[in-house]
Amino acid sequence: MLRLPPFRYLGPRNLDEAARMLDGEGTQAMIVAGGTDLYPNMKRRQFTPPVLIGLRQVAALKQISGSLELGYRLGAGVTLTTIAEHPILQEYYPALTTAAGSVSTPQLRNMGTIGGNTLLDTRCNYYNQTEFWRHSIGYCMKKDGDICLVAPGSPRCWAISSADTAPVLISLNAQARLASVDGERVIPLRALYQDDGMHPYTKADNEILSEIILPPPDGWRSVYLKLRRRGSFDFPILGVAAALRFAGDGTVTDARITLGAVASHPVEAAEAAAQLIGQRLTPDLIASVAALAAKRAKPLDNADLTINYRKQVTPIYIRRALSALM
Ligand SMILES: Cc1cc2nc3c(=O)[nH]c(=O)nc-3n(C[C@H](O)[C@H](O)[C@H](O)COP(=O)(O)OP(=O)(O)OC[C@H]3O[C@@H](n4cnc5c(N)ncnc54)[C@H](O)[C@@H]3O)c2cc1C
Ligand code: SF4
Repeated sequence: MLRLPPFRYLGPRNLDEAARMLDGEGTQAMIVAGGTDLYPNMKRRQFTPPVLIGLRQVAALKQISGSLELGYRLGAGVTLTTIAEHPILQEYYPALTTAAGSVSTPQLRNMGTIGGNTLLDTRCNYYNQTEFWRHSIGYCMKKDGDICLVAPGSPRCWAISSADTAPVLISLNAQARLASVDGERVIPLRALYQDDGMHPYTKADNEILSEIILPPPDGWRSVYLKLRRRGSFDFPILGVAAALRFAGDGTVTDARITLGAVASHPVEAAEAAAQLIGQRLTPDLIASVAALAAKRAKPLDNADLTINYRKQVTPIYIRRALSALM
């Protein structure tokens, strides 16, 4: 049985208190929301924070508010189940509810939050293992070691961004509100990510993700397709999030395609998406755009299934996603 390492638990009652605690405890503290990513990682000793600051009692983080005209604000502590089952989100942001509803299992979606999903640790076959397993192979640079075991000559870590909702939120052009003792700031959600398996997030250590802001649906159609080994349970090996807007005559006026689980950050295929603008969707156009978008995915041998399979299936999934929006 894997046990949690010892830690001190702080339970702030509001966001200001949480921000003060996080700032006061410094880098030895970590935020915990649902704990469905962090607690398993702590049991495997990927993280051993002496202090955890739990957000469960911060009611303000559990709200969904807004309107079709203004867009919606999702508190970072809203559970994935709530998002997946929300009727308005289902109707106007279907890619998001599909992605939230595809995360792991019902029990974990009841605990796991949209904030925790957005800030999920990057994953790798050589890293998401027990301490004993990692010790036996000499560790890797993401935790306790010196080299990358996937690409030993590489100076960097290639662990994979595996959150289902992240590529969708980027395709929807969502924003993130970050709070700290220094105040608040709102950034495009895409700016939260960087291509670095060890430091995948740009937010400061003392910042808390307080909410995700969805723009008004305003005619956008969206879809999320997920490839995984077991349909009932697994992390994505590939996620395709596409959002398109059409003119009355059926030509595409705006397009975004974002790929998940293909790099250390969600990858936007902007050049490919641009080729859709001003065109009507046809099978030929979709196939050529999908082939171009798939070039943005450069899978390494650190996830489930073979690289070759993942490479071959990427354009097929992008094609299916775009076809679903026809
Ligand atoms: C068996 C299993 C299967 C899974 N399958 C999937 C899957 O298919 N797809 C998927 O995307 N995920 C999957 N997960 C991961 C996880 O369940 C989800 O990503 C979940 O949404 C994480 O949310 P949480 O609230 O539990 O995060 P936590 O574990 O509480 O936190 C995750 C990280 O985010 C930070 N954090 C959380 N909230 C905030 C905040 N408001 N501000 C700042 N930092 C914050 C924490 O410090 C931590 O580093 C799986 C997990 C397990 C155990
Ligand atoms: S990509 Fe390399 S450094 Fe990163 S977790 Fe995997 S083996 Fe470790």
